[in-house]
Amino acid sequence: MPASPLIYDKLSLGDRGQLMFAGLDTLELAEEFGTPLYLLDEDRVRERCRSYQEALAWHMPEGSRAYYASKALCFKGIYPIIADEGMGADVVSPGEIATALAAGFPASDLCFHGTNKTVADIAYGVGQGVGLFVVDNPSELADLNCMAASVGVVQRVLLRVTVGLDPHTFAAVNTGRVDSQFGVPIETGQAAAFLKDALACEAIEVVGFHSHIGSQIFDASSFCDQVDILLAFALRMRDELGYVAEIFNLGGGFGVPYTQDDPELDIAGNIALIAEHLKAGCAAGDYSVPKVFLEPGRSIVADAGITLYTAGGVKTIEGYRSYVTVDGGMTDNPRYALYKSPYTVVNASNAGDDADFECTIAGRCCESGDRIAEDIRIARPQRGDIIAVLGTGAYNFAMSSNYNRVLRPALVVVSGGKARLAVRRQTIDDLLALEM
Ligand SMILES: *Cc1c(COP(=O)(O)O)cnc(C)c1O
Repeated sequence: MPASPLIYDKLSLGDRGQLMFAGLDTLELAEEFGTPLYLLDEDRVRERCRSYQEALAWHMPEGSRAYYASKALCFKGIYPIIADEGMGADVVSPGEIATALAAGFPASDLCFHGTNKTVADIAYGVGQGVGLFVVDNPSELADLNCMAASVGVVQRVLLRVTVGLDPHTFAAVNTGRVDSQFGVPIETGQAAAFLKDALACEAIEVVGFHSHIGSQIFDASSFCDQVDILLAFALRMRDELGYVAEIFNLGGGFGVPYTQDDPELDIAGNIALIAEHLKAGCAAGDYSVPKVFLEPGRSIVADAGITLYTAGGVKTIEGYRSYVTVDGGMTDNPRYALYKSPYTVVNASNAGDDADFECTIAGRCCESGDRIAEDIRIARPQRGDIIAVLGTGAYNFAMSSNYNRVLRPALVVVSGGKARLAVRRQTIDDLLALEM
């Protein structure tokens, strides 16, 4: 039986069979910073940013750009990296805006999303000088127009439209995607009315359209279908309203491998295919090729992160299965509990040993759904071994909670063979600080 697959090239075996992460010994990191512990490889994040920016520069019109989707992993330390790589950032709340601004990220490079921006949110965004709003619906448009007019600015916006396709079942033309809480549908004619209203707002400048078709998509054809529908809409709006879009924002959603069975991530290849498709469509419709914005979240940070835990009990229920409990779980990674998302798990203390122990990794909450992976194989652990879960850079720290009053882990950033604490571990005092 082979050892657990180290599915990312930044992982390797150390001389004692321990797991190494971006050149550093995970057992030493666990010792120094404690567990559970999030690790993030800054150099990998930068590589991913460059893949997007270079492919966009190469294949798409000048001014095309990637905006990092903050919701995947939001802490102050991510923003200097994103800014340094020339990217913008998506934000969906005053909390994310404030985090970016606190890190010195320019407000003009922020793109403000959200289905329900309150009047206070809109005031905050306009007041801070957020560069671009993605307007979700007509009532938000009206409020934004009022707010911008009252402070004497013309706010640049994209209109969020739904193209009405499900990337997983496109052949069936899934109307479930028209029926969505995000944006305004093209199919029902409401998006056209939305644009007409927006063009009539004196404090709004409509610079283009936004749509986001989903997440964990590996196949460029879904994005090409999205481009077709968006472009058909844009052509119709040119003919009916004389409006020409400067920007198409195609959202995020590029898939990343979580297990050995998933395909590789091919950022440049996908962007090339989407560009070819867009240019051909524009040529056929005699439409000048719009700038393309993309909003990658997962594919920037997922495989740059791993989580370290300390194994607690190893328990075999005779005739059923074995459980390995860890000192975290759904509180630091709710994705298995929420979506049954698969992960690759490695016994970091003995990463070179045969992965011959079939087990389920369970967390510490009083909740039978608190699991990280089920029926997987790792090298048989003992109490105290370090257990690594791979590919946890996206939607783990960002979705963590204090359920069962479990404290949030620390986050350590690794770069050039050095580790630095980016977010300290939460304390009991932090937990109690809000209570009267
Ligand atoms: C979630 C989301 C993204 C990021 O998606 P990933 O799958 O993480 O790349 C981008 N744009 C919008 C509007 C989103 O809701």
